[in-house]
Order: sequence, then structure tokens, then C-alpha cells
Amino acid sequence: MIFSGKDISNKIMNTKNIIKIVKFGGSSLADANQFQKVASIINSDPSRVYIVPSAPGKRFDSDTKVTDMLLNCFKAIGTDEFNTIFTNIKERYDDIIINLGLDLSLTDEYIAIEQNIKNGYSRDYIASRGEYLNGIILAKLLNYNFVDAAEIIFFDENGVFNPTQTNIVAEKKLKSLPNAVIPGFYGSMPDGTVKTFSRDGSDISGAIVARAVMADIYENWKDVSGFLMCDPRIIKNPKQIKVITYRELRELSYMGATVLHEDSIFPVKLAGIPINIRNTNSPDDEGTMIVATSRCNAMNNNDIITGIAGKKGFSVINIEKDMMNQELGVGMRVLKVLADMGISFEHFPSGIDTMSIVVNKEAITGHEKEIMDRITASINPDSIDIESGLGLIAVVGRGMIRATGTASRIFTAIAREGINIRMIDQGSSELNIIIGVNENDFVNTIKTIYNEFVK
Ligand code: ASP
Repeated sequence: MIFSGKDISNKIMNTKNIIKIVKFGGSSLADANQFQKVASIINSDPSRVYIVPSAPGKRFDSDTKVTDMLLNCFKAIGTDEFNTIFTNIKERYDDIIINLGLDLSLTDEYIAIEQNIKNGYSRDYIASRGEYLNGIILAKLLNYNFVDAAEIIFFDENGVFNPTQTNIVAEKKLKSLPNAVIPGFYGSMPDGTVKTFSRDGSDISGAIVARAVMADIYENWKDVSGFLMCDPRIIKNPKQIKVITYRELRELSYMGATVLHEDSIFPVKLAGIPINIRNTNSPDDEGTMIVATSRCNAMNNNDIITGIAGKKGFSVINIEKDMMNQELGVGMRVLKVLADMGISFEHFPSGIDTMSIVVNKEAITGHEKEIMDRITASINPDSIDIESGLGLIAVVGRGMIRATGTASRIFTAIAREGINIRMIDQGSSELNIIIGVNENDFVNTIKTIYNEFVK
């Protein structure tokens, strides 16, 4: 029997007193029409009790996200442009309020925000007002309580998120309410000033709230129906990923697959709370379920590969030295040179008398000669050179652990296409195989692997 994301979701739904944290991205709340869709999603399920909204996003391609408008506003303080941008921002919110037919005025809020900006409030404060105002509107539309994120999400004096204080205060506050809208993207510093997360940080706020109330599920509604097995710019209509583990997701995100803010995984992963990526514009799609490996192990999964992702722009430092294997500490000395120069390495495949270090091309550009000179001085190799133009492709799948011959299938398919493999690295977890090819072969390699495994 094959379990799908929906099965996991249904299993969770079947237990009593379900709590769902529901986060909506900016495109899901870009205008009144999107707000209506959000309201009907929330109203269709009574377990959707705590809602975390982003600021209004783009309504069309050339549109500007409200957060960007606010940041432009900050840059324009003291100029005439300030008033123009601030007026445009107010119009975006008023337009939503009017078209929703809400009995709500944000005039007092606008006056207070403008005053605070003039009084020198920080860039973070200004950026956070996008979520703050959107939260007030959504709470009004849903008839939910509004809880300012500054009251329940905390950073320490170094600006690092403080989970202990947040969990205690947020749990107490939210559990005392039957429902709440909590604006995403920000919290407060010990002195009470507002601090934001990095861009797209409402994903993190949703995860933090989910952890604080120990939610059963963290639903994250976006404008795509979850993760695709492959970049749709490379493969037309790639298969959708139904279930993925946190670890697989990390491997794919690291290699460039982006749907979710990376930092939003940790709070829920620690607590074992599944994340369900859903599509506001297609609410019947079950989306992608992100779960712990243990939960996945209990399932029969027929897919060997979960996803393929890749990045270009790598270089390889190739080193050869006879009898390298008999000399102690060679690898350590080479890596020390890189560490001393502040360069981190991605992969480190080695043979008996050879080693290759894969690094980001950008990190070494302009320093190539120094790197080679320092490594030469340190280990006296027979040869050393740096090649660039390498693309790395990660083939990720928990199914690879039990399927024999997966590597052989990948490499045979690639060889059939006449593509030269420049590097191979398989993590000991057997969760992924990394393949390095010339950047010119990058797209074709991804297509070849996808076609080999997805029929
Ligand atoms: N509004 C913020 C941004 O545009 C945060 C978010 O949307 O998640 O980055």
C-alpha cells in the first residue's frame, strides 16, 4: 500500500482537538479577491485556528510587493518621494478593505506609523508594517483575534531568535484564545523594538508559532501546489512530490530548490510537526507533505528518487601527489589553507594519490594563484590545478537506501547520452548522490536522470 500526503493529513485529522497553524504567503493575500479565497479556506476547516499572514505580494508580474514599497519608503525618508510611496501603500490596503466591504478604517494606524517613521523608528519596524496591517484586515474579515507578533515572538540582545521565551509566552497567549491572526515576519527585541527575520521570513514565523503551540500540522499556503521533482524550467510539467522528509528537503534546498524559507524547517522539525505546502489558488490539491524520516519509514514508498536539483558555478581544485595515502595529515593541511583564507568547501572526493576539492567559483575568483601557492607550500604536491565551469546535481531520495543499482542506473543513463562525469560523491546516508558535470552538460544531465526514473 502506498501512503500519500493526504493519508498523513487524514490520519492527523482523525484525532481530536486538532490545531493547525496556517500561514499564507504574499501572493495569497495580494488583493481582496485573494483574501476571499483565504477566508473560504480557513472557514472550511475549524481546526485552522491560528493564522499567520504575509504582507500583500504582487498582483501581477510588474507589481511591487508591499514590503518592497515599505523599504523604498524607508530609503525615501526626508524626500518628497516618501509621501508618494506612503500614499500608494495606504491605497493598497484601503483598496483591499473597500473591496472586501469591511467596516474597518486603518487611518489611525497610518497616522501612528507615519509619526513613528518620522520619529526615527528602524528599517525593521517599517518593513514589518506590511504584515502588521494585513493581519489587522484578515482578523477583521475572519472575525478572529489579532495578536501582535511583537508580543509573542522574541529575539535576544544579539538579535538571535529566542525560542525559550517565545515558546512560553506564545503558548500561554495563544492557548488562552479560541483563534488568532498573528502577523508574520517579525518579533521584538528585549527593549521592545521591532525586529524582522530575513526576507520571506513569514515562513519562519509560521513554524515558530506551530512549535510554540505544538500544532498537529503547519499548513503553508503559497501559489504553487508544493514541491516539484525538478525545476520546471528544465523539465516541462515535472511530477509533484507528495511526501518528502525534512532531510531530503534540506538537500534539495541546498542545491537551489526553493519554495520554503530554509530556516522555517528547524522549529517544526525539532518538534516533529509535519508541514503541508498548499496552493491558495488550487485548494483541492493535496500539496506536498514534509515529514520526519521516522514517519516516512513506516510507509511503503515506491519512488526511488524524490527530487533532483542542481547549481552551476563551481570550481575544482585538483591535487596529485605520489604516495599521498602514506603521508599523514595531507587533507587536513589542504583544508587548513582554505579555512585560513575563509573559503568553505562543498565536496572533497579523494583517491589514493589524488584529491579534489569542490568550491564555489565566486569564493575563489581572484585568489586562484594564492590558493595554489599556499597549498604547494604546505604539502608540496606533484601537480595542482583549478578547473572551473562545474555544475553540481543532487539526486535525492530516501528510496535509494533500499534500491540496489540506483547509482548504476544513473551513470549508465548519463553515459548513454555521452556526458562526461567529472565528480561523484555519495553521502554515507545514501540519501543523495552528487554528480559534477561540465556546465554545458548541466541541463541535459538533469533531463536524463529525470527521464530514467520518472516514466
Ligand atoms: N513580507 C516579507 C517579505 O516580502 C516576508 C514574507 O513575505 O514572508 O520578505
